[in-house]
Amino acid sequence: MSDRFLEGRTALITGSTQGIGLAIAEALAAAGCHIGLHGLADKQTVEAAKQRLQDAGAQDIRYFDADLRSPDAIEAMMADTAGCGGVDILVNNAGVQRTASLADADRKTWDTILAVNLSAAFHTMRLAMPAMGERGYGRVVNIASVHGLVASVDKAPYVASKFGIVGLSRVSALEYASRGDRVSGGVTVNCICPGWTETELIEPQIDARTQIVGGGRDAGIADLLKEKQPTLRMSEPSEIGSLAVWLCHRHAHNITGTAIPVDGGWTAQ
Ligand code: NAD
Repeated sequence: MSDRFLEGRTALITGSTQGIGLAIAEALAAAGCHIGLHGLADKQTVEAAKQRLQDAGAQDIRYFDADLRSPDAIEAMMADTAGCGGVDILVNNAGVQRTASLADADRKTWDTILAVNLSAAFHTMRLAMPAMGERGYGRVVNIASVHGLVASVDKAPYVASKFGIVGLSRVSALEYASRGDRVSGGVTVNCICPGWTETELIEPQIDARTQIVGGGRDAGIADLLKEKQPTLRMSEPSEIGSLAVWLCHRHAHNITGTAIPVDGGWTAQ
């Protein structure tokens, strides 16, 4: 998208130092947003992400390193953004994933996945959305998953967190539905539900499958896709970025409370 229709808007994208979050931040930067870059990363990774955002057209980038397992750290980050005018666009993207059967998943796995994937979004939304309501424009884009719509074995905490964020998004979409108007753009809350998407998050699952099927990484990926994703193609993070930006347009004012799959037909089955 070349047109800078979001010029001057401020976007906070959690977990944007890499992967899907960075691709969304790049797409928002290209559309004219000031960027709140966020994630747990070393200095080199943060600098590389900043460079990519500048190359995409970002004129103002602020980096936040709040650990999303800590509500206090989230509150401090949101107070900081509020002090600088607040966020117009909030993308709750940060996520963690660990696979284990219900019997083998320990307490720490559950607590971490629920805190990062679900509770953090509750905190950022409750703190950012009142100002969006007052302005009559706001966008919350929550990166759920195909696992917010259907289940798979060995992912109980992850699936619970993603179903949870779909529910949280629907409630907040209803609570803010009547704020603003067509001209201001309204306040909307939607989930994007990706299937397999090329990022570091899924490398352990690719490795595990490659060990089982043999024949190298491509064979492992092909086997994962064959099982669930009928197009047999992974998504690129930039494709999720394009959809996220599109949802931020004023003409998307009546799209709220949805959970949009980008899953190659996974949930059509
Ligand atoms: P990734 O591992 O590449 O990036 C995760 C980001 O979250 C990083 O920036 C990391 O620093 C941040 N993060 C993790 N724990 C954090 C913490 N405690 N505090 C602050 N930041 C933290 O992952 P990705 O694949 O880009 O995933 C992004 C989102 O997309 C996640 O919510 C994930 O569940 C979802 N998703 C991914 C896929 C996929 O196939 N990659 C599929 C469906 C959904």
